Amino acid sequence: MEASPQENKQSDMSFFGLGIAPKILEILERIKFTAPTPIQFKAIPVAIEGKDVIGIAQSGTGKTLAFAIPVVQHLAQEKGAGLVLAPTRELAMQIDETFRLFSDSFKIKTACLIGGAPMHGQTQSLRKNPRIVIATPGRLIDHMNRRNFMPGNVTMLVLDEADRMLDMGFKPQVEEILKNITKERQTMLFSATMPVEIMQMINRHMRLPVHVEIAPPGTTAEGVAQELYIVKKETKIQLLSKVLSEQHGSVLLFIRTKHSARKTAKALCKMGHRATDIHSDKSLGQRRAALEGFKTGRYRILVATDVAARGIDVKQIEIVINYDLPDDIENYVHRIGRTGRAGEKGKAISFATPDQSRDVKSIETLIRMQLPVIRHPEIQAENFDRRTKSARPGGRHYKAQLLPRGKRKRSYSWKW
Ligand code: ADP
Ligand code: MG
Repeated sequence: MEASPQENKQSDMSFFGLGIAPKILEILERIKFTAPTPIQFKAIPVAIEGKDVIGIAQSGTGKTLAFAIPVVQHLAQEKGAGLVLAPTRELAMQIDETFRLFSDSFKIKTACLIGGAPMHGQTQSLRKNPRIVIATPGRLIDHMNRRNFMPGNVTMLVLDEADRMLDMGFKPQVEEILKNITKERQTMLFSATMPVEIMQMINRHMRLPVHVEIAPPGTTAEGVAQELYIVKKETKIQLLSKVLSEQHGSVLLFIRTKHSARKTAKALCKMGHRATDIHSDKSLGQRRAALEGFKTGRYRILVATDVAARGIDVKQIEIVINYDLPDDIENYVHRIGRTGRAGEKGKAISFATPDQSRDVKSIETLIRMQLPVIRHPEIQAENFDRRTKSARPGGRHYKAQLLPRGKRKRSYSWKW
């Protein structure tokens, strides 16, 4: 992709002088990445020196290359293997593609191990001695149990979307994997959010990590305009239809449950929109087709659960709509990070019901700004009802916020 205007402005930043090998610099030139993003500028030299890194930067600012370049460079020079863990299949595939831009030239093979795909093909690719494995944790453990993959020689470990990888949902699996990897490894963690409780436990897995923070965790991309509508649950679909008719670009629409994602995609098709849905009830093939169709423009609207909240890099998503607010507040930042990538402009519109003032407050605390409330001229305006139970301390939502992240009620399950 072309360097964005924002990156061009960083004219004092160059890939030269960061310790990157000439052969990798050549590839960067070939793919027309002329200047590093700030997280690349800061994290690459530290990682090339072999230090452990915790990298925090907004969504869409090039964190993948910030770890892919040091991993490939190290493995081109030294023995050992690299392992990258990611929370979703789609993200793992995308990371694999980025790695291959660089690893192919060094004849370093990669393997991508994700749930939903046949074991056989992955077993075959493991037989070819890949030196970089990109995996979702569940599937990696399957391969470890079958002795297809021995993590014994892993010398570089990356946890992308690190807070998600270390929260309650994934922790047991990641710990099981970690038990089998030598402590003499280099560990790198990257994310746009990092809740305090996760940060506290991270140290046990690392050796004096260098913190590279471009913006405090929770910072959203500058180019994304954010708006909030307060709307009754039963009016949401009407409001959605108005919003969709007023905007022209491609839309990623987030919904809480798989069931309503399916229902809403159907309803949108009936209204004459080109829409499809993606969630963990779909097969890997269906998920791939939905994402591919969205990328190529066959579908204008992709209705998704939070399975698509993290890491997915689709160019030109103009609008992210939070039809429902996320259950995990951090996911607000990840969801809206799907637009405004690599310095582009984007828009994020959220629908909140009158009893969700506390959830909105939590989001505003995380992103350190207030969301402007917009009223639609043709839709009945609502206000936050501050008397409802859920808005009071001690109410249901308040208590839910106090629970550890993994114990908060989830309406969807993650499948690998
Ligand atoms: P993040 O992980 O921070 O959300 P990604 O690594 O997915 O971001 O990168 C976002 C987009 O920016 C990708 O399309 C990637 O190709 C592009 N990109 C990354 N680094 C550069 C760079 N130095 N110059 C131009 N584009 C870049
Ligand atoms: Mg990423």
